[in-house]
Amino acid sequence: MKAASRRAIPAVGKVLDALAVSELPRSLVLKVVRRHLATLRKAGDVPDFEQIVGSISDELGRLAASRLQPIINGTGIILHTNFGRAPLAPAAVEALSAIAASYNNLEFDLVSGVRGKRAGFLENSLALVCAAEAATVVNNCAAALVLIVQRFTRKNPEVVISRGELVQIGGGFRIGEILTANGARLREVGATNQTTIDDYAAALGPETGLILRVHQSNFFIGGFTSAPPDAELAQLARRRRVPFAVDLGSGALHPTESLGIREHEPTPVETLRSGADLVCFSGDKLCGGPQAGIIAGKARLVAVLKAAPLFRALRCDKLVLAALEATVDLHLRGETAQIPILARLAETRESLRPRGDEYLAQLADLPLAARLVESKAEIGGGALPRSVLPSLALELKARSCSPNELAQRLRHGRPPVVGYVANGALHLDLRTISPRQDGLVVTALRRALAHA
Ligand SMILES: *Cc1c(COP(=O)(O)O)cnc(C)c1O
Repeated sequence: MKAASRRAIPAVGKVLDALAVSELPRSLVLKVVRRHLATLRKAGDVPDFEQIVGSISDELGRLAASRLQPIINGTGIILHTNFGRAPLAPAAVEALSAIAASYNNLEFDLVSGVRGKRAGFLENSLALVCAAEAATVVNNCAAALVLIVQRFTRKNPEVVISRGELVQIGGGFRIGEILTANGARLREVGATNQTTIDDYAAALGPETGLILRVHQSNFFIGGFTSAPPDAELAQLARRRRVPFAVDLGSGALHPTESLGIREHEPTPVETLRSGADLVCFSGDKLCGGPQAGIIAGKARLVAVLKAAPLFRALRCDKLVLAALEATVDLHLRGETAQIPILARLAETRESLRPRGDEYLAQLADLPLAARLVESKAEIGGGALPRSVLPSLALELKARSCSPNELAQRLRHGRPPVVGYVANGALHLDLRTISPRQDGLVVTALRRALAHA
């Protein structure tokens, strides 16, 4: 290490010249180089020049890979929270880019020429699709829940909720913590697996501000379980004059059975018909739109929420409104095949097989053992945890590298392709790959095996 310690730190300019051209802004590259050289200076142990340039290149590569970019999802998880949940329908993308690039009538009434209502058209459409008196929208379902809880516990701080529904949804989102962080007091009723209408009735009192039901979205409790139906709870709420809200989470606008899924997901329409005063659900789960939190129900209560000071802080921007408006149009027109999430759900092994055969033909000349295997896809995104969807996957074994190495090369490609390794092979599930991406996947595999 003696020789190493005598080497000088190279000049920034010399390192910059030696680096391959990066698509990152030069100032960003410069910052990485300076920081790296500063670390070497502190450590006092200077590797040779090629090594320095190599590790800076790697660091720049990792930085570029962390940039938001489209990927191809071969995991078989349809609503992958890490992959941005629902891809948008072409009509939604068009609406979004048209509105993004231009001034627009966000809060301007073109008929009268004066200030207009933000999201008026969308609220009307959402109410229609939910068969509700009124609807509105905020940034996401968590925000919708915070708004509902905060507003209805202003005078009476208690939220009555079943112990079985104090769930954690994804990383760091615990229903119980959300409620109490906003000054509400939890009044837990029943047991994890059993809650009766009498438990609810006994918990209601002068301090009760809200009865909340949270759909158990990402897990299920089997066996000895029971909970009163929405209609019974709604009746009790009405009798005791307490608002009753249901967080539906995934927000299936159409009966899931119509998509070939056996597990039933409660729809906003049926939950409101059962007598719930308000429902909320995500825009980017089974609704298939952008990230948003949709609230629908009694006009009086929706108006109260919209008048709350917090509503202003949670409102959606024009891009989200444009994309959601176009997505809801598709729901209202019954053109759900245009909504990527619903198209992926509607696939069957039979519908996927011709594409699988085409893949095998396209990959035949590569140094690769490829075949089609029956796989199981999932809905993901905290929806329908029991539903496993029969699917078809490409099983790939490269002659020259391990499945993990192949997976890594595909992740480094452009666009990156992400699959999963099982039974000693890389798998790409065809259900979550859009048919228009098939050519890109074949090209990605060619490239990944070219430098084998
Ligand atoms: C997913 C989910 C949420 C959170 O929705 P976001 O739109 O991600 O904020 C809240 N409640 C339930 C029941 C969910 O399934």
